[in-house]
Amino acid sequence: MHYVSTRGAAPTHGFADALLAGLARDGGLYVPLSLPQASPDAIRALRGAPYPEAAARIMAPFIDDDFGPDEIKSLAAAAYTGFDHAAVAPLRQIDNNLFTLELFHGPTLAFKDFAMQWLGRAMNRVLGQRGARATIIGATSGDTGAAAIEAFAEQSQVEVFILYPHGRVSDVQRRQMTTVARPNVHALAVKGSFDDCQRIVKDLFGDLAFRDEMHLSGVNSINWARILAQIAYYFFAAVALGAPDRPVSFAVPTGNFGDILAGYYAKRIGLPIERLIIATNENDILVRTLASGRYAPHAVKATQSPSMDIQVSSNFERLLFEASGRDPEEVVAQMSELGNEGSFTIPAATLTRIRADFEAYRVDEAACAEEMASVHRASGVIIDPHSAVGVHAARQALQASRATPVIALATAHPAKFPDAVERATGVRPALPARLKDLMDRKETIAVLPNDRQAVADYIRQTARAAA
Ligand SMILES: *Cc1c(COP(=O)(O)O)cnc(C)c1O
Repeated sequence: MHYVSTRGAAPTHGFADALLAGLARDGGLYVPLSLPQASPDAIRALRGAPYPEAAARIMAPFIDDDFGPDEIKSLAAAAYTGFDHAAVAPLRQIDNNLFTLELFHGPTLAFKDFAMQWLGRAMNRVLGQRGARATIIGATSGDTGAAAIEAFAEQSQVEVFILYPHGRVSDVQRRQMTTVARPNVHALAVKGSFDDCQRIVKDLFGDLAFRDEMHLSGVNSINWARILAQIAYYFFAAVALGAPDRPVSFAVPTGNFGDILAGYYAKRIGLPIERLIIATNENDILVRTLASGRYAPHAVKATQSPSMDIQVSSNFERLLFEASGRDPEEVVAQMSELGNEGSFTIPAATLTRIRADFEAYRVDEAACAEEMASVHRASGVIIDPHSAVGVHAARQALQASRATPVIALATAHPAKFPDAVERATGVRPALPARLKDLMDRKETIAVLPNDRQAVADYIRQTARAAA
């Protein structure tokens, strides 16, 4: 499979090079040149398959130029052994025709582990084969950083720098990044918002001299491998409820648009998904965009679901590309308008196609807390605030039409956000046994100004010292 940039001016890559590149050199995002189709029979054949086997089969057509069949199987098997639940991604019914897909049984308790555990191993394998090293830089609103640091701590070919917004992640999230005592992983607290961190990372990738000097690689959800690994659980869950012979809908708590985009690609490659429901917190740019056709970021607001406190949803560019009929010129025009004027308008034809696949709901802080409380009251299940945003949106969608089951993605373990959960439910969720001493481990943090040059200097010095 070859990969092309959404902006049409970067070299076409195979999977391994798209994996290492992260962001394309023209500032665009890599997407597959064509979308392989999963037939109804191929989907039926996934019934009963253990998660790693299902994941390997879904991912194979996208990666089989670079990895042999046995390697594809062994990568998936290794990626999902560190999960705490035998089903890896268990479905749980919480109401009539309403299910949660629990994606938080991995090492850092959020769905990011699904992609990162796979990507870390795949990247290390490719670098090892080439005798190369890479420097990974990434921005995190909390969970990506923890997942990346955990996934790369044992991967010798890679040096990792994760930027997170100082003081704006939960204690558990921060400690998962700052207590992994390995010389090749670094947590950088930037005095700014997640969007500031993301902008610095994008700017550093845009500095082609720095990029080449440091052998930069990205693991944010702009990396196609992240999206690819997440496509697998949409199939796994839908098949458990009868796909391809019964359609399902998904409600997805959304920030950077990576997770729900994986659902969109699952649909495009053949999974019968009726509705893709975007669930946002009060940072509702995607809800406003779908309603008005105008993509206009506001200031970021801090909420109890901090991993979705985002106003610039990077992966939306991939959807714009697909919904425009794969027109890189349209994408470039929109992105330069965003850069120059701070917003852009989606052409009518593209907007119509987006609205055909997606609906969007904004869940405010009170509704999120009430949802945690009511799920607990009604079925004894504790969900985290991000998952509650998804469940609440799912309920609204079910009111409009209730015939098709809705699967709400439960994206984080409640113990990751114990204060918000306790406020809403009166119950303080406990960390799983293997993380019991997290709050006592020693932290190492570098606090940096919200300034691209300061971050670049720090990375250059630290990576050199470590090399
Ligand atoms: C990252 C994250 C999200 C948002 O996912 P995107 O792919 O950025 O849309 C939602 N919930 C949790 C717990 C997360 O960590």
